[in-house]
Amino acid sequence: MHGTRAQTLQQPRAAAASKHAAGRIGPNAIIQTAEALRLRLGEDIARRVFAAARLETYLAAPPAEMVDEAEVMRLHDALRAVLDDDTARAVSTRAGQLTAAYLLAHRIPRAAQRVLRVLPARLAGRVLSRAISAHAWTFAGTGIFTARPGRPTIYEISHCPLCRGHRADHAICDFYTATFATLFKTLVHSQAQAREISCEATGASACRFEIAW
Ligand SMILES: [Zn+2]
Repeated sequence: MHGTRAQTLQQPRAAAASKHAAGRIGPNAIIQTAEALRLRLGEDIARRVFAAARLETYLAAPPAEMVDEAEVMRLHDALRAVLDDDTARAVSTRAGQLTAAYLLAHRIPRAAQRVLRVLPARLAGRVLSRAISAHAWTFAGTGIFTARPGRPTIYEISHCPLCRGHRADHAICDFYTATFATLFKTLVHSQAQAREISCEATGASACRFEIAW
């Protein structure tokens, strides 16, 4: 029965395999970062960040298809280069929240959302984790996503595109953290929270996200 519910959220696996090989990421990683920059810091700063990433054209003509993950990596590099650490992280967090809001509004069927909300949190978390795993090809690029449902739920992304090549003394993949947190808070448990408990940027073997409620 849960399989049926999860399948309403899933995409064909053949598509998953071919897109994954290309190292592409859904356009929300670009579009919602632009929106978060505009909302928090205004058009001028948004333009400066996108120029630093050599992606200015996306401000006028947002990508409609999946993009090369290298573009998402450049955008996150540019956020950290142009903005101070706290601001870059706040923008990434907002972009993740906006991405989750987009998925809730346009990608996750209303009927499936209603089912998740009435299921006990433990079961809803499992169904949502299965759907997120099935869609990992849309957000992880050449990163490798694995999920361990439960309480807490642990997601792992190795070879993570958001922090690849970066060194930091703290976790920096706030875009993913905020996306997972918002989806779980909306669909699984109103008190759900997510945090990145290890990050490749700090030398960990993978980025790991703990979602608890
Ligand atoms: Zn990370």
